[in-house]
Amino acid sequence: MAKKFVIILLVFAFLAGLALFTKAEPKDTSSKIKVVSTTAMIAELVSQIAQEKVQSEFLIKGDIDPHSYELVKGDQAKLKSAAVIFYQGLGLEHGASLVSYLKAESKALAIGEVVRQKHPELLIYHDGYLDPHIWLDLNLWEKLVLPITEKLVEISPENKEFFEKNALELTQNMQRLDVSIQSLLQDIPENKRYLVTAHSAFSYFTRRYISHEGSWQNRCIAPEGLAPEAQISLYDIEKVVAFIGAHGVQVIFSESNVSKDAMHKILDVCKKTGLQVKLASAPLFGDALFNEKGYLDMMWHNATLLHQAWHEESIPTQD
Ligand code: FE
Repeated sequence: MAKKFVIILLVFAFLAGLALFTKAEPKDTSSKIKVVSTTAMIAELVSQIAQEKVQSEFLIKGDIDPHSYELVKGDQAKLKSAAVIFYQGLGLEHGASLVSYLKAESKALAIGEVVRQKHPELLIYHDGYLDPHIWLDLNLWEKLVLPITEKLVEISPENKEFFEKNALELTQNMQRLDVSIQSLLQDIPENKRYLVTAHSAFSYFTRRYISHEGSWQNRCIAPEGLAPEAQISLYDIEKVVAFIGAHGVQVIFSESNVSKDAMHKILDVCKKTGLQVKLASAPLFGDALFNEKGYLDMMWHNATLLHQAWHEESIPTQD
């Protein structure tokens, strides 16, 4: 009887072990389309459109600056094994090793260039330099869904219907959020809608969601330029302080992937000149996703943070 009991126990132990082993086994990804994107924002479009049919990866993780990203160990192997590589273009990726690799690689598509080709009038330039931050306008970013879908269909025509159904759903979600953000921020009195951020990432956002038509250029300012990698001069700080004074700005915003040094300098100068300004309790997400959550979450976070900060003067300060 005792022997029988031991055998039963051993069988159970074996089955439990087998179950654990099966669970720990890596998923078979051999049949999935391998897609590598440079940014998390592009990778998310790919994942939403192709879902389980794709193994979607991206190079620029977390709060790393996408403008100056250089290839690191392992990136080339990832890129080589991809069926297609999506990068944004429009001057976003300008780290020398990454941009030269992408330019020489026939599998690499500059997906953001579709906006330049089809809607050049929608692009924003700062002193002759193209602003690459198109993902901060849902209406512009949505224009990348079709070319990504077309490329995926070209690689995997048997999944055409599946990709197109998902693309339609994604587009509708983006359109709904676009309308929600517009109505949320238009609810703020016009004289409060002046945006001070760390680098010049929010022009598209300002034009779409903050300003009334034609006047967006005077509604946002930042001490750092299109890529947060330049030295900041006293002139840059004074320009922002003058903007704060002229428009009665009461709250300014740091960004998740940009040093807060310039924002603190601005606060210091404001204090010395008697301007009452504070730093918002949380950063905006300009070049990175909101706590590694999705793109739509990031857009909604930015909108609700602005709404809260502009609406309530009770928002706690960071310092
Ligand atoms: Fe940026």
